[in-house]
Amino acid sequence: MQLKIYNSLSGEKEIFKPILEGTAGMYVCGPTVYSNVHLGNVRTFMSFDFIYRSLVHLDYKVRYVRNITDAGHLTDDGDVDNDRFVKQSRLEKLEPMEIVQKYTVDFHKVLDAFNLLPPTIEPTATGHILEQIELTQKLIEKGFAYESNGSVYFDVLEYNKQGLNYGELSRRNIEELFANTRDLDGQHEKKNPQDFALWKAASPAHIMRWNSPWGEGFPGWHLECTAMSTKYLGDNFDIHGGGMDLKFPHHECEVAQGKACNDVAPVNYWMHANMLTMNGQRMSKSTGNYILPMQLVSGQNDFFEKPFHPAIVRFNFMQAHYRSVLDISNEAMMASEKGYHRLMDAMKILAEYTTESTESDWDVALWKEKCYEALTDDFNSPVLIAHLFEAVNFIFKLKDGKASVSVSDLDELQKLMDAFVFEVLGLQNIEENNNEKLDETLQVLIELRAQAKKAKNFELSDQIRDRLLEKGIQLKDGREGTTYSLI
Ligand code: AMP
Ligand code: ZN
Repeated sequence: MQLKIYNSLSGEKEIFKPILEGTAGMYVCGPTVYSNVHLGNVRTFMSFDFIYRSLVHLDYKVRYVRNITDAGHLTDDGDVDNDRFVKQSRLEKLEPMEIVQKYTVDFHKVLDAFNLLPPTIEPTATGHILEQIELTQKLIEKGFAYESNGSVYFDVLEYNKQGLNYGELSRRNIEELFANTRDLDGQHEKKNPQDFALWKAASPAHIMRWNSPWGEGFPGWHLECTAMSTKYLGDNFDIHGGGMDLKFPHHECEVAQGKACNDVAPVNYWMHANMLTMNGQRMSKSTGNYILPMQLVSGQNDFFEKPFHPAIVRFNFMQAHYRSVLDISNEAMMASEKGYHRLMDAMKILAEYTTESTESDWDVALWKEKCYEALTDDFNSPVLIAHLFEAVNFIFKLKDGKASVSVSDLDELQKLMDAFVFEVLGLQNIEENNNEKLDETLQVLIELRAQAKKAKNFELSDQIRDRLLEKGIQLKDGREGTTYSLI
């Protein structure tokens, strides 16, 4: 079955033809680590985690690069000193790099809780300043950029004069762009309002600064993604992803930088994930309409009636296609919770089910085909999930003795359900995880009790034994050490 991907560049679903047979190079814009990621950010990263998992499952050897934006000219309010990292570091009375570290750690913890796989390369903008300076120099040499007051700008008009098309990805017309731009940022330095910064001169107050041929400064945000993606994936690579809101100007600028620098389109397939909304409004820090992922998990928030396990949040997100808007609400989460438990119950029945039958009264081969059709149809997770629930219904019928399955079909069904549910959708079995946690916790208590005994603190060791017994956990001391049983 051929994999089809919706390419934002052409506005059509296209058959995926990788540059190198059997491999896929994918770059996804990472977080700007000056504050906690909100649940909306998590949705976009999860969409690409699902895409990554699907590509791997479909047997592609994937190089997955997702950067960390830990420096860069990001503000559009015209104030060069208004660097988000510097602003936050003043607010929290921390070094900018402490801000970067704090929120990078938070980002990883959150993604780990939602069972996202790490990318194969996770480069940082500050680790690639030299590459960004080199790209800027090359763009100046090729006549696509100019220096002004220690800053360097990309010359959008010149780009178009050379027959290239700034606006091709976002389908914007350059004349319209010029007419509608309010120029605040660097207004006295730029030739044209649409020109964007490749390098910004640092004012004396600006702490995050590096030496460059144009004086001390810091790189532009758009350039860092070009530097990191082409360094690890080549001048022309397969897939570039990010949230819909990054299409313009960020990704448009990346297309222009790549083409101007390397005379080739940087990306073959542009993929854009749609937004998470809450109460019908896009989730965003600036409007206050947001929830932090861990607030949803802990239940400490004003929007949801109860806490929800990350696996249930993940199931909820996977029920929407990555290109559709997803509105998160209490009702939708409650429904997802129900669906999730039904799915996990079926997984348990399926794992324990045995058969000696030679006949099946359900077409597993056809079902398998439909599942792969959904997966390869632009990663259609909701349709895939609908097919998985057909299997769930069949599994419950098996349990109730109302259907039969052959030995080979059962084997296929078990393998495929495991692969789709756990590997591809990345859902975790909460119960199994809880059992593992319980076991680990009890081992800690058994060890502490042994230490107490050794120190002849029998009062404490007895207390541990008795209190566990009160909770229905019986410890037994044997020759091999202490074991426990649930009573
Ligand atoms: P940022 O750190 O602001 O660059 O955002 C990280 C990623 O989250 C980007 O790919 C954004 O497009 C994405 N994003 C921001 N807001 C939302 C939202 N409400 N829903 C889904 N993705 C979002
Ligand atoms: Zn980017």
